[in-house]
Amino acid sequence: MSRMPVVFVGHGSPMNAIEENDYTKEWRKIAERIPKPKAIISFSAHWFTEGTRIMNEENPKTIYDMYGFPKELYEIVYNSPGSPQIAKLSKEAITRETQYDNSWGIDHGTWSVLVHMYPEKDIPLFQISVDAFASPEAHYQVGKDLSHLRDEGVLLFGTGNIVHNLRLVDWHMSNKGFDWAYEFDDFIYDNIVNRNHEKVLAYKQLGETAKLAVPSTDHFDPLLYVLGASSEKDEITSFNKSCELGSLTMTSYLFE
Ligand code: ZN
Repeated sequence: MSRMPVVFVGHGSPMNAIEENDYTKEWRKIAERIPKPKAIISFSAHWFTEGTRIMNEENPKTIYDMYGFPKELYEIVYNSPGSPQIAKLSKEAITRETQYDNSWGIDHGTWSVLVHMYPEKDIPLFQISVDAFASPEAHYQVGKDLSHLRDEGVLLFGTGNIVHNLRLVDWHMSNKGFDWAYEFDDFIYDNIVNRNHEKVLAYKQLGETAKLAVPSTDHFDPLLYVLGASSEKDEITSFNKSCELGSLTMTSYLFE
């Protein structure tokens, strides 16, 4: 079996789930380009917990963890089967302490993208939470611990946004970003492309720019799992590299 790629997707607004736009077109293209996964493990910005939690239900529920959107969004059911078996392999492979937790479900960070990538909903899928208290290195290590699952056909999938500051969103800047948003996004881009993962992990050294871009780590951390699971041999492609509403970037990465 060929080694599965690893992907980080900037998911942006939940509305992308029901829209057809430049972002969603790229998501579809990526799914067409890579081998069909045997299973998907999603690290979503929206399952931000104390400690590392793993879903191991046979049939994880779809959850609607966003408010005030059109009814259409709450009617989406992303009912792929779960994979208790790969959840168990993951629990065994992760070196830090973890626990099973089925109180959550497939959240909009995951389904708003996968409805485009895999509309058939036939690939076993579960989520592993992002520990709100873990260091960048700890997230990265979880990715490393799971990287061998790529050889089993498992797609490790991170979904967040590299720059994500909702407090500073400017509705007049539809396809533009603030200078600091570009600066931070480019810093991450350069260090990913040049494989300087230590610099990505030490992003807080950028000071004020990092504080503006990553006011809370929930949307940034999923990238670190993906980087941890990537390898020197992977070819790196970035897609949807762009800013919107001033303080969000949609920049995404494929390692294959
Ligand atoms: Zn989000």
